[in-house]
Amino acid sequence: MSQTIAALSTAPGGAIGIIRLSGADAGALLRAVFTPAGGGDLVPRMLTYGTLTVRGRVIDRPMAVWFPAPATYTGEPMAEIHCHGSSAVLTETLTALFALGARQAGPGEFTRRAFLNGKLDLFAAEAVNDLVCARSPQAAANAVAQLGGHISHEFTDLRQRLIGLCAQFLAVIDYPDEDIDDLPRDEIARTLTDAAARLDGLRESYERGRALREGLPCAIIGRPNAGKSTLLNALLGYDRAIVTDIAGTTRDTVEETMRLGALVLRLQDTAGLRQTDDPVERIGVERAMAAVADARENGVVIAVFDGAKPLTDEDRFVIEQARGARRSVAVRNKADLGAGFAPEALEPDFGAVVALSAKARTGLDSLTNALTAMTGLADLPADGGLITNARQADILYRTAQALTRARDMLAAGMTPDAVVSDIEEAVEALGGLTGASAREDIVDHIFANFCVGK
Ligand code: GDP
Repeated sequence: MSQTIAALSTAPGGAIGIIRLSGADAGALLRAVFTPAGGGDLVPRMLTYGTLTVRGRVIDRPMAVWFPAPATYTGEPMAEIHCHGSSAVLTETLTALFALGARQAGPGEFTRRAFLNGKLDLFAAEAVNDLVCARSPQAAANAVAQLGGHISHEFTDLRQRLIGLCAQFLAVIDYPDEDIDDLPRDEIARTLTDAAARLDGLRESYERGRALREGLPCAIIGRPNAGKSTLLNALLGYDRAIVTDIAGTTRDTVEETMRLGALVLRLQDTAGLRQTDDPVERIGVERAMAAVADARENGVVIAVFDGAKPLTDEDRFVIEQARGARRSVAVRNKADLGAGFAPEALEPDFGAVVALSAKARTGLDSLTNALTAMTGLADLPADGGLITNARQADILYRTAQALTRARDMLAAGMTPDAVVSDIEEAVEALGGLTGASAREDIVDHIFANFCVGK
């Protein structure tokens, strides 16, 4: 069994700090530093109060738990010490554990061991990281459903079925007396079509899954005094950007992350987009342009207008900036002061047009509803069926392509060896998704993105 690893699994600065151990000596190492308060030995899986002794000194009175193998997260013996969160106590305890033979765990090493010991497949292991990083309850729900293994099983079952198909084809190739016509072509074609469609559907969910996991870049644009800063503050619920009525005061970009239900927006309050001779302000305008370009391509553009006044040339410049964006919403702000122009003036250029008052904080729902609908995050599949990373999306694409090619070859009456090579390619690709045949460097790369202690 591998060397015992130890790491602090909680973020520094909390009231409690949890040190985790995994490996053959986890139980022995725990017993070397921890003594249950009532005497006697540790009871498996029971959190127990006691003393933590390092170099002959009691340094904490923590809770500790011992998990004998194999029913543990990693499949190895494990232990946890729930200390008080003092960095001095935690460092001293870890140092003592290292002196006793443990070594510092690398990023994601606990989960990597769980994967290597067959406790979860690679797809579920990646969901663990998504769960740790989830920024909305919906992102957490998607990750925890994936962790539950429903989709992993689906991939494993499909891979087994495809391996079975390969065997059938190879039998025909090896024993040429058996004609390919002996194979149930229609049934095989249906299996290939259905599988390709399901995998394609999952791949298509990647855009939404990515938005769910990473959030969307969001640029709030509009001419000076349209109410961008006021809107940002209203959305954030507190005063973050400076609000004044002197034109051009929002000179810098201010980044905030904001959650609206399932939607996480990486907000950028941009300097007023307008032509200017002021060199400082021009830097702000350039930054605003870059923020808008990112939001146009990958996220959402919120264009704010002073809805109480007729549209100006500056507003038309803003419309130009938003035109052609992947997702865009026009906000007719200052609805409390009446309407200076009709919504139809903006409708052709925006995905949605809403009216609200940022100052009075009324009508904000119309904006959040439009944004949620636009990103397709209003209704999420309950089975964890949103794919959240590019590697998985790429594998799904390649697998579906290979299956479609195999189906087409079958339909065109090609020889079994031509059909089987595409199915084998699909089997190989799917193995990369579950980890059944993932390359070691890819596995290394995946776990390198985890935090230490998970
Ligand atoms: P920005 O330059 O686009 O960021 O505009 P600000 O957010 O600084 O707002 C400019 C002025 O418009 C400020 O005096 C705000 O109080 C005012 N303002 C913003 N939103 C509204 C609104 O919904 N109604 C009214 N009556 N005034 C608003």
